[in-house]
Amino acid sequence: MAVNENLRTPIVSVMGHVDHGKTSLLDRIRGSAVADGEAGAITQHIGATEVPIDNIVNKCGDPSLKDKFIVPGLLFIDTPGHHAFTSLRSRGGALADLAIVIVDVNEGFMPQTIESLHILKRFKTPFVVVANKIDRIHGWEANKNLPFLATYNKQSERVKSDLDNKLYELIGELYNIGFNSERYDRVNDFQRNIGVIPISAATGEGIADVLMILLGLAQRFLEGNLHYDATAPGTGTVLEVKEEKGLGTTLDIILYDGTIKKGDTIVVGSLGDPIQTKIRALLKPRPLSEIKAEEKFQQVSEVTAAVGVKISAPNLEGALAGSPVRVVSTDTIDAITEEIKSEIADVQIDTDTIGITIKADTIGSLEALVNELKKEDIPIRKANVGDVSNRDIVEVTAIEDPFFSVIVGFNVKILPDAKEKLQSTDVKLFLNDVIYRLIDDYKDWVKKQKE
Ligand code: GDP
Ligand code: MG
Repeated sequence: MAVNENLRTPIVSVMGHVDHGKTSLLDRIRGSAVADGEAGAITQHIGATEVPIDNIVNKCGDPSLKDKFIVPGLLFIDTPGHHAFTSLRSRGGALADLAIVIVDVNEGFMPQTIESLHILKRFKTPFVVVANKIDRIHGWEANKNLPFLATYNKQSERVKSDLDNKLYELIGELYNIGFNSERYDRVNDFQRNIGVIPISAATGEGIADVLMILLGLAQRFLEGNLHYDATAPGTGTVLEVKEEKGLGTTLDIILYDGTIKKGDTIVVGSLGDPIQTKIRALLKPRPLSEIKAEEKFQQVSEVTAAVGVKISAPNLEGALAGSPVRVVSTDTIDAITEEIKSEIADVQIDTDTIGITIKADTIGSLEALVNELKKEDIPIRKANVGDVSNRDIVEVTAIEDPFFSVIVGFNVKILPDAKEKLQSTDVKLFLNDVIYRLIDDYKDWVKKQKE
């Protein structure tokens, strides 16, 4: 076996609590390659980093591995700051083919990370848990860039058992969420057990293991999902809607199928009717060697999946993060516009005649919130993307049942005029960036009201 030309690069999302080491891990995957003189091989995308298979295999120190793998490499998404993994969807479900859940081994899982685990479960996304910062374990002797087992075997018995205990705690927490897991070298069947890989993003220990296990998962579970058609019209997901100096509103997208060209007409979701527009420019970051150049981006005439790219085009102001973006022709524009509209409306439907009103920052996170509320049998009257507006308050004021005169907002804020309005009403507002906290807060409040 060798690299199969018909398979695209698997898309890997890195999730974890702030400060647990997402950026450091990606830097390590990128940076040590720069140090190894392999910088040319690594491609920086918009919102993503591509590591080719040769590079990964070199890092693992066994060239014969190359023949074992059929994927061309791995594309790591730099999940934008606060955006939960929930925002990243594709037509088939989750945008990411694989995921890394990173956790500070000394702190354990945090609420948002647990939420990410639930979502991975729902989408059945294969993933690994990376237990980071092992170098912080008292007495740890760092062995730069060694694979995990090699460095583990050099540690004292006390350090080993200290780490083992911390891992057991993680494994216990994973069990409570419904996952069987084991330290990765003890996993025989990755379909049944989640591998937990101890690493240090600071020293590079265990990084090779992470790359190897990801390739193994891609190989074993993804082949059927990675077929793509380079000649098909481009299909992607909006990562971020961003203002850029001199360009106005732009879209950072991950293209997961087909090709997208300068001058193509695209359709992208918005709160109202989908936006139809023509691509003025496709932009990629400048190579590292040209970092001092005046312009941040360079133009390209076309790109093929899987790739992260910035789109500059007119009328992108209302575009929604997390929404689909598709290349259309005069024959397909109407049908695809309808499809995108209904895909967004599916989430935004007025679900029940009575119920609470919910808001979220992206379609994906709104969908996640709807799902969790349904599990709790909490009826939803209206679900919408965007900050809490004056209009939301006015609408909810008209609801007589006090238990439903409620707005629940995930990852959103309340607009200034709405805040003022809220004070003169009995509307109850809950805001949080953790879904289950929102639900708990609402349930606690309802319970108190009933007492
Ligand atoms: P992020 O918020 O998840 O992207 O976390 P960062 O990668 O920014 O890391 C947060 C902090 O933890 C930074 O100060 C890093 O230098 C530090 N850090 C990350 N990984 C490690 C590690 O493996 N060992 C140690 N000692 N510090 C780390
Ligand atoms: Mg970071």
